[in-house]
Amino acid sequence: MIRLVLLGGPGSGKGTQADRMKERYRAVKISTGDLLREEIRRESELGRRAKQFMDKGELVPDDVMIGILDKMTQAFETRAQSYILDGFPRTLPQAQALLEMLKKQGVNLTTALLIDVPESELVRRLSSRWTCRNCSATAGYPDGKPDQAVCGQCGGELYQRDDDKKETILNRMKVYRKNTEPLIRFFEEKGLLTRVEGFGDPDSVAMRIHETLERTLKS
Ligand code: AMP
Repeated sequence: MIRLVLLGGPGSGKGTQADRMKERYRAVKISTGDLLREEIRRESELGRRAKQFMDKGELVPDDVMIGILDKMTQAFETRAQSYILDGFPRTLPQAQALLEMLKKQGVNLTTALLIDVPESELVRRLSSRWTCRNCSATAGYPDGKPDQAVCGQCGGELYQRDDDKKETILNRMKVYRKNTEPLIRFFEEKGLLTRVEGFGDPDSVAMRIHETLERTLKS
């Protein structure tokens, strides 16, 4: 059973790569961003609370996120279900809480996989990113999306996420640098970091991740 954390800035390809890895490792992907967007769509209490933060590119408070993850990881252990966390942890308290949760469950994190992409490239990718309303797959259109374009995975409608607008993107980068980048050191110091270069097309990155993870899993 594998328990993976995916680290990387917004737009680094975490979601895309998690979708590929989940098939290979028979794991489920937990995207906390997708989960929160679904709560917003359902107009739940959690969704209403989260939206105020998400619209500005800010982080949803730690206690909310940790509560959700605690329940989920326990359910996975019961079912011996491998999982990949996409977008959690995003702060040091979340990372500490995750390791505590796993310790309580008597298990270890397999690794935290960092998809390393320079910030200028992240901004470029996010400003041209379109997301499928149906399956959350993404597509990049640097020269503008053609009118007839639909999702390459399921044919669903493509839309631009509210937080993929220019000013919000810059704020998300700031938030990432301040809150999430320190997690790289945190996992590194615990001997739990695996680093992969995230440049190039999704297939090349997937190949690099596969080779690197196989080495990590053997060691
Ligand atoms: P994402 O889809 O991962 O880019 O997440 C979109 C937004 O959801 C983020 O900008 C945050 O506002 C919120 N979010 C997702 N995951 C977390 C988390 N682990 N902690 C706090 N906020 C989160």
